[in-house]
Amino acid sequence: MVHHAVNPPTPGWSLTIPPRLWSDLQQHLFRLDDDEHGAVILAGRADGPRGPRLLARELILAADGLDYVEGTTGYRALKAEFVRDAALRARDEKLAYLAVHNHFGTTTVGFSRTDLASHDRGYPALSKITGQIVGGLVLTPQAAAGDFWLPDRTRVTPTEVVIPGGNLIRLTSAPGSVVASDARHDRQARLFGDRGQHAFGRMRVAVVGLGGVGSIVTELLARLGVGHLDLIDRDTADETNLARLLAAEPDDIGKPKTELAARNARRANPKISLTLIPENVQHPTALQAIAACDWIFLAADTNAARHWVNETVHRYLIPATQAGVKIPVDPLGQVGRIHVAVRHQIPGNGCMWCNGLINPTELAVDMLPNDLQKQARYLDEIPAPSVIALNSLAAGEAVNHFMFAITNLHADEHEHSLLHFPRTGQRIPQQSRRDSACRTCSDGGLMAQGGHAEAS
Ligand SMILES: [Zn+2]
Ligand SMILES: [Zn+2]
Repeated sequence: MVHHAVNPPTPGWSLTIPPRLWSDLQQHLFRLDDDEHGAVILAGRADGPRGPRLLARELILAADGLDYVEGTTGYRALKAEFVRDAALRARDEKLAYLAVHNHFGTTTVGFSRTDLASHDRGYPALSKITGQIVGGLVLTPQAAAGDFWLPDRTRVTPTEVVIPGGNLIRLTSAPGSVVASDARHDRQARLFGDRGQHAFGRMRVAVVGLGGVGSIVTELLARLGVGHLDLIDRDTADETNLARLLAAEPDDIGKPKTELAARNARRANPKISLTLIPENVQHPTALQAIAACDWIFLAADTNAARHWVNETVHRYLIPATQAGVKIPVDPLGQVGRIHVAVRHQIPGNGCMWCNGLINPTELAVDMLPNDLQKQARYLDEIPAPSVIALNSLAAGEAVNHFMFAITNLHADEHEHSLLHFPRTGQRIPQQSRRDSACRTCSDGGLMAQGGHAEAS
């Protein structure tokens, strides 16, 4: 087969495939039979940190010999009826139509001449029928190339296919050239490789909550070399925060926590790009920011923050890490089971609703205007204990998790959520439950629905 590139990659365009859908697709395409197999992906669209993202929502497998048959002009082709049915669904559900097949190979892949000829023959008509993006995708287990035809007749070549699982996989049509890491990151690059180190620089990461845990998370991300941070917190620092906010000084009382975090991030990396959002996560600007990033850290402990981040993970297929510390002290001063929780949220895995991590009553209160919230909370006025050393445990676990995911150093594809009990030294891995009827994380729910969180 002669392979050649369609067009140079169009900056920004990408396709994100949720891990469960990817696993079904892999089983279908990559078999031991040394043959080609086909499928169709229907995908929604959202804006991403670098440009438009297609979000794979439905997978329609083509049965060999029935839907995927000997072609008249090529080796194999999707049967006309199969294409028609899938295209009509794309039209009715207003989703992009992407025909997928596999090639043999490892880290390099491209369409064959025959593939491209069939795009030329078929896609203009499919584009008319659907009124949506139509295109093709060719895969090996380690590479992906695409050819997307937009309704306005522009043709784009996506730069990558992203699978946000335990490791964050980014498939491209060929291994990119490696940029040597700068001296500042030399010791890290000895672990991650220059390619891994470079991956941090491309990341846009949102930190929701810049208190005890978020302040440390921000510092660690900036020093790792993350290229862009969205810093989200509505609070200003008061005297009781000074013991826990990194590098805070007495003069900082009254300053927005976003500014303090930004100051630390710039000290760590003068070249870092920052967006400061001094709002709660439910503010439209904050929601837009978390819906258009590569990764979210949830370091705010309100139910509203949990809800909106949870919603974003599944609607927009963006992984998140929740990090927090619980220090139970009863009114008599009795100290209970202190625990540090770090939970990795993988799109399409059990969500925070499925795992009882959002309290509907508390969420309703969080959504009230500020003055009404105060009235509703009169019983909970006692501030919770908080200690920098415990917070640093949560922040360290959370950022280590992120770091291994980005550089594909997790030993497996599991979630790696855990509870840590510092008073006993116990560390218990957590497996999230998934309710197959969940409104948020099930296939029939909000998965890959994209736009827009603020509408609901
Ligand atoms: Zn092919
Ligand atoms: Zn769920």
